[in-house]
Amino acid sequence: MTGICIELKTSCGHCSSPLMLNAVTNDFICPACNKNNYFSDEDWQNLLDDAVKEGPGLNDGEGQPSTIMRGAYTYQLMYGKQQPRCGKCKTKIDVNKLEDYSAKSNYSCPKCSNEIFIRRTNDILQKEFSGIKFLVGEDDDMLKVNPVKGKLPSSAKPVLFTCPSCAGNLEIDGTDRMVSCKYCDSQIYLPDDLWLRLHPVKEVSRWYMVIDENALPAKGTMPEWYYLSDVLSDREGNTYFATADDGEGDFIVWSIDKELNTRWIKKGLKFSHERTGMCISDDGNLFLFNENRNSILKLSPKDGSEIKKDRR
Ligand SMILES: [Zn+2]
Ligand SMILES: [Zn+2]
Ligand SMILES: [Zn+2]
Repeated sequence: MTGICIELKTSCGHCSSPLMLNAVTNDFICPACNKNNYFSDEDWQNLLDDAVKEGPGLNDGEGQPSTIMRGAYTYQLMYGKQQPRCGKCKTKIDVNKLEDYSAKSNYSCPKCSNEIFIRRTNDILQKEFSGIKFLVGEDDDMLKVNPVKGKLPSSAKPVLFTCPSCAGNLEIDGTDRMVSCKYCDSQIYLPDDLWLRLHPVKEVSRWYMVIDENALPAKGTMPEWYYLSDVLSDREGNTYFATADDGEGDFIVWSIDKELNTRWIKKGLKFSHERTGMCISDDGNLFLFNENRNSILKLSPKDGSEIKKDRR
């Protein structure tokens, strides 16, 4: 499991105020103008494509800032390779226990009791990136589609605001910026300073995608590749590919069945996409060779595991 951290922000399409995308969801209510900004599944897939594909190859703690223009929005994105941690005290979260954590409704940091939202990946990402297993540290307020009630400052005095036409006391709970006076029926639009006290502008906050690098692609799809070194089929109708995506250290061997479902992927093979070939023996072993090497690699056609010489 590999953690990829994300910080993502843009500007509201209605009022240009900063808009923090601190969770993966389609609808974001702008805290400044209270209007909705919609980001489609495709927008999300496009925004996170590099992070999902390039992120795992970075060194731990290494990050990549970028500016992405798409549709009417310009996004500032930072992604990096980092194990999920508490946003307050930086205590690391055990990625092997995310299954348990995500089953409970909330997870508190054992050190500072900060509540951290953990969930399994959602539909927006699952369709495109089958490797993403969990999302950690999102702002779960942003996942509620209906506008969240503004939080009244707890230490401060109650918010007093009177109707400008009849001076009656207005009841303000922060859900709607347009308030009607129950004494004279006037419609009052709450002024900026009051509205912003109820809906403080959010800071960008870091959240994480936890990726299983060995996850197989979704049914009926294959790994992505750019260089094809060799391809062959066996008598059962399985097909084997030796490919690389950008040619630098991402050489893989993989196999699909008759229905084009990926059976297995073997990564971490130190081969070059140039001059590498495969063959399959009559007794059903897969061999990988390169013209510039004087050794060959024997792989199991069942799961791609390396078959080493018995050293007895
Ligand atoms: Zn706005
Ligand atoms: Zn903490
Ligand atoms: Zn009134």
